[in-house]
Amino acid sequence: MIKLTGISKSFGKQEVLKGIDLTVHKGEVVVILGPSGSGKTTLLRCINFLEKPNAGEVTIGDFTVDCKRSGRKEIHTLRKKTAMVFQQYNLFKHKTVLENVMEGLVVAQKLPKDEARARSAEVLLKVGLSGKLDAYPSQLSGGQQQRVGIARALALNPEVILFDEPTSALDPELVGEVLAVIRKIAKEGITMIVVTHEMGFAREVSNHVVFMDGGAIVEEGPPGELFNAPKEERTRQFLKRIT
Ligand code: ADP
Repeated sequence: MIKLTGISKSFGKQEVLKGIDLTVHKGEVVVILGPSGSGKTTLLRCINFLEKPNAGEVTIGDFTVDCKRSGRKEIHTLRKKTAMVFQQYNLFKHKTVLENVMEGLVVAQKLPKDEARARSAEVLLKVGLSGKLDAYPSQLSGGQQQRVGIARALALNPEVILFDEPTSALDPELVGEVLAVIRKIAKEGITMIVVTHEMGFAREVSNHVVFMDGGAIVEEGPPGELFNAPKEERTRQFLKRIT
């Protein structure tokens, strides 16, 4: 359902992604692990062309974008199949919780306001924020703000949600509530690709774990195998350091 083929990306002379191939099946939760600087976030951002790869193809469903041949229109179509949850939430400060979630539906998806409002209220209920529809981001905890970020992604009904370290800006006591929401929506069968350092979450929620180092996939497999019996020395060293 999602296929990356030969994704490469350089910033100046630095080659950050070295020809990544990855297949993600519909409904899978894929966790991407790896040391800082290994290219995880860049890979995630290449999937929706927030970063344009220098080479490679991204396929979502039956739609393929080749970074060399495709233009803005194709990139726009691809991007609409995805939604992203950012580390720093990226909410509009001057809009309420409800308006933050409605924005993408009204502006990008051109939904009538009434429908957008109803859909937004529904997803906000799902993330446990139905009591905060009229609050502004500054009135919310970090965990609540990130749950708005997740609701905003969910509302778009994307084919895949991309999570970029969704809990790393949070105080430790707020991490659990955000992971609980992600876990809940994972159970609904939404395809997700998650960059995270939360090993417990990765073990428990993911179907597939990808370990990256130096801009390449070193090893990938089901969490049971990757965590309990990693094949590669670099994976073993990383897991030893982090757990
Ligand atoms: P990770 O998510 O694994 O920590 P990143 O994908 O964020 O890794 O970064 C990989 C490398 O690419 C790092 O060395 C980082 O400094 C570099 N990098 C990322 N984004 C940019 C950018 N916009 N411009 C220049 N270098 C970047």
